[in-house]
Amino acid sequence: MKNLFTTVKAAVTTRQAAEYYGLKVSQNGMACCPFHDDRHPSMKVDERYYCFGCHETGDVIDFTAKLFGLTAWEAAEKLACDFHIDPNTPCSVSCLPSPEAAGPAAGR
Ligand SMILES: [Zn+2]
Repeated sequence: MKNLFTTVKAAVTTRQAAEYYGLKVSQNGMACCPFHDDRHPSMKVDERYYCFGCHETGDVIDFTAKLFGLTAWEAAEKLACDFHIDPNTPCSVSCLPSPEAAGPAAGR
C-alpha cells in the first residue's frame, strides 16, 4: 500500500498546487514567493519549489504545509482532498481559510 505522501507527490506538482492556491505562475514557472515579501517573481515552481529570494525549498507537501501553517500530514490530506486524489481521505482540513485570509505574507 502506498502512503499518502507518495501518492500526493506523484499526483500533484508544486506548480499545480501553487496555481490552485492562488499564486500566479508565469510561463517559465516563476511565481511571487508567498514566504517573503516578494515584489517580483523569484520563486521557481515545478515538481518542487525553490525561492531565489529567501531560499525556501521543498516539495509540494512542504509548500502546502508552509503556506497554510499545517503539519506535513495535514498538508498531504489537504492536497489529496483538494485534488481529489483519494476519495477515501477524510476532508478534515479542507475548510481552512484561503492563503489571503491566513496571511502567509504578513509584514507586507
Ligand atoms: Zn521567498
